[in-house]
Amino acid sequence: MNDLANQRCYHHHRREAVVRCPDCQRYFCRECVTEHHDRMLCSQCLARLTEGGTQRSGFWVRGMLMLMQGSLGFLVLWYAFYLIGLTLLSIPHTFHEGTIWEANWWGGK
Ligand SMILES: [Zn+2]
Ligand SMILES: [Zn+2]
Repeated sequence: MNDLANQRCYHHHRREAVVRCPDCQRYFCRECVTEHHDRMLCSQCLARLTEGGTQRSGFWVRGMLMLMQGSLGFLVLWYAFYLIGLTLLSIPHTFHEGTIWEANWWGGK
């Protein structure tokens, strides 16, 4: 345990470390660790572990938001193509009316 005795707390550099966090492998003094499921965890790792449940539910919320944003983007894109299609359809329509069908192109008398 010589290694531990020479270490200082990650948060308090003047204090000797008594515990090494098994998660982040950093050294901490007695005040900086909390017992959690028979393990001495630092405050950061404890917060990370206890937030795990909410992060998982947040993952689904983010996933749904991304899905909604994606479908919204698709709708906008689709509408843009729809408008372009309408414009493209309207152009040859007037073109045909103006030239081909009104002109006597088949040579009838
Ligand atoms: Zn830690
Ligand atoms: Zn400390």
